[in-house]
This record gives sequence, structure tokens and C-alpha cells, in this order.
Amino acid sequence: MTTFQTIDAALKKAQTILVVSHMRPDADALGSTLAFTLYLQSLGKKVTAWNEDGVPEKFQYLPQHHLLTLPSPTPQNFDVVLVLDNSNKKRVGTPMAAVAHAGFWINIDHHISNENFADLNYVDPTSPATGQILCEYFEELGIPITLDMAGNLFAAISTDTGSFQYRGTNSRTFLAASRLVERGVDVADLSLAMYDCQPKRRLNLLKHALNTAVFLCEDRLVTFSLSLADVATLGVIPEDNEGIIDHLRSVDSVVAAVFYEELNDGLVRVSARSKDPRVNVSTICAQFGGGGHPLAAGTRVRGSLAEISEKFNQALCEAISHGS
Ligand code: AMP
Ligand code: MN
Ligand code: MN
Repeated sequence: MTTFQTIDAALKKAQTILVVSHMRPDADALGSTLAFTLYLQSLGKKVTAWNEDGVPEKFQYLPQHHLLTLPSPTPQNFDVVLVLDNSNKKRVGTPMAAVAHAGFWINIDHHISNENFADLNYVDPTSPATGQILCEYFEELGIPITLDMAGNLFAAISTDTGSFQYRGTNSRTFLAASRLVERGVDVADLSLAMYDCQPKRRLNLLKHALNTAVFLCEDRLVTFSLSLADVATLGVIPEDNEGIIDHLRSVDSVVAAVFYEELNDGLVRVSARSKDPRVNVSTICAQFGGGGHPLAAGTRVRGSLAEISEKFNQALCEAISHGS
């Protein structure tokens, strides 16, 4: 694995830099992209920040979010492409096609399943968020963190740790968060924007999830599916479904929870969560062509909702039965 110094030296040599993360972005993907874009701008670089989905409305509380856009329709050349919070090039999505030529690739991430696909790879699976790695990068190199950078990094860390609750949360997480609060982050205001400003649509989706949830494997597995027909009836948009699964996961008997979403290209998006380290959902998702973290993982599989959910549920129930 490379060092922050080596990455920083490579970035300083470059003039044009593209920063990307993953499709269907979360606040770690977007916050990390924006914080690093702001840093590179302060160095006088020509920085471009792209995401396949732009900045979905619900993330528009992120400071300076207008810096991040949809990819250009005409491919462009970059000295360096920096990929954040992403384990492989495929999950970058449409921005890949908008890169005509990249001189050099850099990858900074926290997924254990990271494929080390770049010229320089910094992968730290002990970090619960890419935003935490970036805080350590700035700290180690003595780079000032502005208030806008801090807001983005705090959002990245808070959301990826489930508000500092998930198993990956460690003393370094609180150290990083403390430094960001020192920089002026207003925890209450930012948390309100992150967690208490949901559109009513999302509540309708939650109602639907609670009404249609299926308990399997002696109530240790809970799942819910969203078909394209449900999406049309409920009037929901993709960004509404992030986190719905957490409500099902919170049941005491539940060890693992899975959300199956029918996509309009014949694929099913699988989003899996586990509460027990003996039940590694990343391993199971890897068997289905995906990956992620031991307790939060995903994949996209070709097939129908019924077919994919049956196969995946079976694999997961076997893992639950072996684990416990
Ligand atoms: P999600 O369920 O979409 O919130 O994703 C949970 C975790 O699994 C995230 O950390 C993702 O990076 C990872 N993940 C989701 N989908 C995929 C995929 N198709 N390939 C690899 N990793 C994925
Ligand atoms: Mn992410
Ligand atoms: Mn992340």
C-alpha cells in the first residue's frame, strides 16, 4: 500500500484532476469527493468532480455541492483520476466513459473488497468511512481543513458509521470528528439536514416496506422487495430507499436484512446488512458478483425479483444457520 505523501506528491505534479466515487452515491462518496475537490482547488489545480447520479436532492445540504456534476457528454483528458470510496472501476459508472485518457489512477478507499485497480492504492478497511481516511490524510500532511471541507467530511463519517454506532467506529473516528467540530461544524444543524429532513415520499416507502416485509429463516432473516410497479404506484425515486432496510434490521430476532430492488435494465439490486460478524454479507454478495463490507454489502444480478431473492435468501439463511 502506498502512503499519503506519495499520493500527495503525484497530485501536486498533475494539472488536470478528475475526482469520482461510486454510482448511487451515499454521503461518504459525495462528501469525500467534495472535500478533496476543495483541497485540490486550494492547490490551484484544474479539478473536475463527477458522479453518475450528480448530487441527488437529499444530499444538497453538503457544502459546495454544486462543484460536483454529472459527467461531461464529451470525453476529456486528465493527468490524474482519483477514485474515492469505491472498490472497483465498474462501480464508477458513466463517468468512466467520459474519461478519454487518464495519465495516472489513484484509489483511496475503505472497502475490504477493494480490487487495488489503480497505480497508487490506499485501502484501509479499519476505517469506517473514506471521509475518516481523508481526515487522517489532511492531518498527517498538515493540510488545513476549511469549514466547507469539514462539513463534507463530518457528513461522510456520520452517515457511514450510522451516527457513530456501527462496529467499525473506533477511537480514530471520534478523533477525526472532534477535529471537524473544532473546525466549526455545527453537529445539530448538519444532523438535522442529514437525518430529520426526509421527503414524505420516503415515509410512504417505509409504510410499504413494513407492510410487505417477509420474515424467513426462523425470523433471523428479513427481506423486502421493490418492483418497478411499486415504484410507479408509490411515486418514489431511487434516493428514497437508502436506509429503509435499517428499520427491518432493528427487530431483535433479526441477524440479517436484505432489500431487493428491481432496476429497469433487467437487473436486481441487492442491498444486504448483517448484525453478527459471523454472518459476513460481503462474502455472500461476492458469490453473486458484488462486494462491500462484512456487515453491509451489495450486488447487482441479472434476473427477476422472485428468482434472485430466492437464491440469495437461501445462501444467506445457510450462512446464518452455520454462523449461529
Ligand atoms: P448499499 O447496500 O448499496 O448501501 O451498499 C452497501 C455496501 O456494499 C457499500 O459499502 C457498497 O460499497 C457495497 N456495494 C454495494 N453494491 C456493490 C456492488 N455492486 N459491488 C461491490 N460493492 C457493492
Ligand atoms: Mn459509499
Ligand atoms: Mn464509504
